[in-house]
Amino acid sequence: MAEELYTGPKFETVFLSWEAPSHQHLQRLIHWCTVFHRENLAPAHETGTAGNLSFRLEEGSNAFCITAAGLIAKCKLSPDDFVVVEKCDIQNKQVFVRGNRKPSSESMMHFAIYKALPKINAVFHGHHEQLLRNAQLLDIPVTETSCDYGSEELVESIRPLLGKHNFFIIREHGFLSTGTNMEQAGALSLHYKQKNESLM
Ligand SMILES: [Zn+2]
Repeated sequence: MAEELYTGPKFETVFLSWEAPSHQHLQRLIHWCTVFHRENLAPAHETGTAGNLSFRLEEGSNAFCITAAGLIAKCKLSPDDFVVVEKCDIQNKQVFVRGNRKPSSESMMHFAIYKALPKINAVFHGHHEQLLRNAQLLDIPVTETSCDYGSEELVESIRPLLGKHNFFIIREHGFLSTGTNMEQAGALSLHYKQKNESLM
């Protein structure tokens, strides 16, 4: 696989304000980042990116709170390690944020999911080599094409599976777990990890 190495987000970050997020659900996201770290669900991918987790701020809006770019270890996080993405202009490759860091390089993918699926309120993306390898045995759908991280092509590649599956594999890359809330997206990730372990 000739995937390019991580060089940071491939979009321009437009800062609308500089304060760190303070949403009431942020502690749950910090909790799930810790779980992903503990369960080794967000190790650095060979490209150098290391998973990204987000939740929708409120019903009827596509704004979301997401892990900052380049966050390798997802333990002992504080609000400063998160960014609120207000909106994305995918065509012009611009992401409008509130926070004091750049948002995850996969912010456009998270935005596309929230926009397409109004009932989905949490999107967790992680990496797990064995899940990728065992996808067929575990009956997990896989996207058709392999794309570079953070690319528009990657966003397009997941569209056919959106709304049909809450958990699927991004080909040769990692997994996407979505849910109506963070507990659902988190539990689904753990469910497939355990299902994979039961194969051994
Ligand atoms: Zn990834």
